Amino acid sequence: MTPFDTETEKDAVWILSHGKGFVKLHNGKTPWYNVGMEQEYTLIRSARKTVGLSVGRGGQVIVRAPYGFPKGRIDGFVSENAGWIEKQREKLAKERREADERGVLTPAEVRSLAARMKLALPEKLERYSAALGVRYGRVTIRCQRSKWGSCTAKGNLNFNCLLMLAPEAVLDYVVIHELCHLRHMDHSKAFWAEVASLDPDHKAHRKWLRENGGALLRRAEEGKEDA
Ligand SMILES: [Zn+2]
Repeated sequence: MTPFDTETEKDAVWILSHGKGFVKLHNGKTPWYNVGMEQEYTLIRSARKTVGLSVGRGGQVIVRAPYGFPKGRIDGFVSENAGWIEKQREKLAKERREADERGVLTPAEVRSLAARMKLALPEKLERYSAALGVRYGRVTIRCQRSKWGSCTAKGNLNFNCLLMLAPEAVLDYVVIHELCHLRHMDHSKAFWAEVASLDPDHKAHRKWLRENGGALLRRAEEGKEDA
């Protein structure tokens, strides 16, 4: 299965999301179930509209599905994606090996990244917030294992200092992404159109984070979210 963008696949009824990429689940046709390959997974039901498949850091399979979505179909989709799950597990193992080789950043290294980020951010925030016509609140720099950036309902922004180890265009993309959340608190079509207006290459930047971000995040100390 190839990842695709939900926005271009309007006819998809249910969408199986692979982390940040998407894979079509069902397109009006009966999906093919591979019953022979059963995979253990944790099922989390909620009021969501799509079925999401992810592999945790420990290799565990997690499925998020809408209430009422048939269990049999979930089983089928999990089996169908056994190859993808295996690939994710291999990717995680590779990231672990790479992180082990390069090691967790020392507190001094984290401080230096944060200091560099503190110098780099104001110009970017100013430029992009002016272009979007938004105002932001407090800006916090963290060294996190979990995310690159976030935006609170009050308009406060958080950025991960590990982004200083990524290409600068990727940092710009994350800044743009979070600032666009000041106008759209979701990942709607309108949100992505706004992102694209300031970063026409945002898909390439997201791809970079998908492919290289995991190994980078592992360089933050386990369980320590703030620097
Ligand atoms: Zn977002």
